[in-house]
Amino acid sequence: MYTLFNPRLCVTSLFDIDLEELRQQGIKGIIFDLDNTIIPWDSADMCPKITSWLHDLVVQDFKVAIVSNNWNKRVKLIADRFNLPFVSRAYKPAKRGFHQALAAMGLQAADAAVIGDQLFTDVLGGNRMGMYTIWVKPLTTHEFIGTRVHRKLENIVIRILKEKGLMK
Ligand SMILES: [Mg+2]
Repeated sequence: MYTLFNPRLCVTSLFDIDLEELRQQGIKGIIFDLDNTIIPWDSADMCPKITSWLHDLVVQDFKVAIVSNNWNKRVKLIADRFNLPFVSRAYKPAKRGFHQALAAMGLQAADAAVIGDQLFTDVLGGNRMGMYTIWVKPLTTHEFIGTRVHRKLENIVIRILKEKGLMK
């Protein structure tokens, strides 16, 4: 059951993701988490480097969508900047939001990757869907109080995955 928490790829930063490698894995679209993945939690300012990296993805013909557990207004504000389909209040790791995003991108789960900073929402949800999961280090340590509780549990799961030799 722990394998459901195990990301296919762990990276320190979005820029460490090899897009060609993703393409070779058959990935045609990417579903992003919002907070602390592409934008710091509770901030409206996206770093220019991430902004241009996201633009690059679209230019390189990757389909992109945002699935967030955060509220509608905030998610829409960011998604509209890039003209991206989005799902807010997705209750990840529930599958519904991912299904909606896949439908909006016109892709099957096997053709999509999920990129997010939390094992219990993004990685678990993506793995349940059978998508390629990428766990990225959170942009800030400043986060929602509920997330801080998750982090403690996350550390326990990471320790177990490492003990089992599942995660490097
Ligand atoms: Mg997040």
